Amino acid sequence: NAFAALGLSPSLLRGLQDSGYTQPTDVQVRAIPAAMAGRDLRVASSTGSGKTAAFMLPALQRIVAARGDNNKRREKGKVAGPRVLVLAPTRELAMQVAKAADTYGRHLQGLRVATVVGGVPYGYQLKALKGPLDVLIATPGRLLDHLGTGAAVLSNLEVLVLDEADRMLDMGFIDDIEAIAAATPENRQTLMFSATFAGHVGRLAEQLTHEAELIEV
Ligand code: AMP
Repeated sequence: NAFAALGLSPSLLRGLQDSGYTQPTDVQVRAIPAAMAGRDLRVASSTGSGKTAAFMLPALQRIVAARGDNNKRREKGKVAGPRVLVLAPTRELAMQVAKAADTYGRHLQGLRVATVVGGVPYGYQLKALKGPLDVLIATPGRLLDHLGTGAAVLSNLEVLVLDEADRMLDMGFIDDIEAIAAATPENRQTLMFSATFAGHVGRLAEQLTHEAELIEV
């Protein structure tokens, strides 16, 4: 199995098998091992390339690897907030990413995925943010609201993913993204996906990624 050769755990391989995936796409072949090695990434790829799995699989693999003591501490509420945060430009894309997390992670016991997007009531989101959480998928504006009230905590974040970073900047989210990134640990891993890294996206990449591997597909 070509996915096994990338180093993914059996529980993730089962999720991929359920999805009917037999071969990783180009972006997956290049991004998954680099992300699993802990590298920051700047990935120039478009929708349809399989980019969602390219960041979600290594992110979930990190959660599998971390299960144990630390996970028990999270259960007891001693470690707050998600390990993985995915920022996406729109509610629709955030929902797609959440669905991918649920699909690939369906055999990871007790995986907790929450979505925080604009245009929907706060109540359910507040409840989701309060509980133990592995993966948070959010649009920048609403997440910033929750950071402001203290409902969202990002001080234990391990991986920050920016999906469709160019679209987020086109939509005017630069200040929100900078404020969100500032609430995360400096030593986090940052995976940036964008159709282009020219102009303001390139400047944001300079700011948020360190010695990033450049992947163009
Ligand atoms: P994305 O570029 O992430 O929006 O993915 C585009 C489509 O490709 C989605 O419908 C995925 O479910 C599908 N996909 C992603 N990776 C694979 C793969 N390795 N094999 C087959 N389909 C895939």
